[in-house]
Amino acid sequence: MRALRWHGAKDVRLEDVAVDALGPDEVRVQVAYCGICGSDLAEYRQGPVAIQDRPHVLTGHRPPVTLGHEFAGTVTAVGERVRGVAVGDRVAADATLRCGVCLPCTSGRYNHCALGGSIGLACDGAMADSVRIPAYCAVPLPDEVPLAAGALLEPYAVALHALDRAAVPAGGRVLVSGFGPIGAAVAEVAHALGLRVLVSEPNAARRAAAERLGHRTIEAAGDARTAARAIRTATAGGADAVIECSGSRAGLEFALELTRRGADIVAVGLPKEPITLDAARLILFERGLLGALGYQNDLPRVAGMIAAGVLDPTRLVSRVVPLADAAAEFARLTAEPGADLKVLLQPEPA
Ligand SMILES: [Zn+2]
Ligand SMILES: [Zn+2]
Repeated sequence: MRALRWHGAKDVRLEDVAVDALGPDEVRVQVAYCGICGSDLAEYRQGPVAIQDRPHVLTGHRPPVTLGHEFAGTVTAVGERVRGVAVGDRVAADATLRCGVCLPCTSGRYNHCALGGSIGLACDGAMADSVRIPAYCAVPLPDEVPLAAGALLEPYAVALHALDRAAVPAGGRVLVSGFGPIGAAVAEVAHALGLRVLVSEPNAARRAAAERLGHRTIEAAGDARTAARAIRTATAGGADAVIECSGSRAGLEFALELTRRGADIVAVGLPKEPITLDAARLILFERGLLGALGYQNDLPRVAGMIAAGVLDPTRLVSRVVPLADAAAEFARLTAEPGADLKVLLQPEPA
């Protein structure tokens, strides 16, 4: 079968690989769609970032590795011990590999597992005709959720978990800082949850994309305090939470100024280098600063929101590209950052 293999920075290749044997607790999924994530592009641009250049502590896998952790498809085979997932099932995947026996794993906080890793980084992923995953990663799709929407459950689960981290009152105002794919998912999920969304994004094309999707935007101009004052005025005292998705110093400094007293700032965007912040701005206004990593059983919740008709992740899909053109697509998305919100790869073009 074909698979897009990461060999190093600027080196991804569509290769013919063997379909390896299924373990007793694994399932094989024929991939319908696989999204290209910002983290995949980071591995392409300047990797290895999260990929490890030695055998992974949990899976033993080492590069080259097939990328792809945002996907949906149909189960074509199940291992002998697998129960609850059957051939023919339509599934998405919770991409979090974990040990399953440590305290975080057994108490629902498996994104804290010290041995954890991600499909498509710590083992071969879904930018391929098919993918072999642990059965516990398979998330059944309700009939109302099309496979293209299913491929976006994973990034939407990241968004839902980030919003869960903040204590936002019903009907509260959430500022989404940065409108890349994750920021866009946060804005969409927040809207579906009945929160009032304001998007801050310096890039004009991305701001226009947010407006096309119906989100209110602001352009943060001037220094953090001046810009924040304008937002505090627009939000009658400041945002009830900021979900910081840009990973930039400006985004975090700005967030520290524009949340109301006592509000939470959730950092989801990973900074490229260490950022120094004025902790007094947290303390004097009793703001909370929290990190959010991945998700905790949030994919079925996103699927439920889609099935209920309050969320449609395919709104973010800019283009669907054949798997055969994947390597060229990585080069294009790197050369034109911000041009597309979400690109899906499709192994078998319709
Ligand atoms: Zn991702
Ligand atoms: Zn664990």
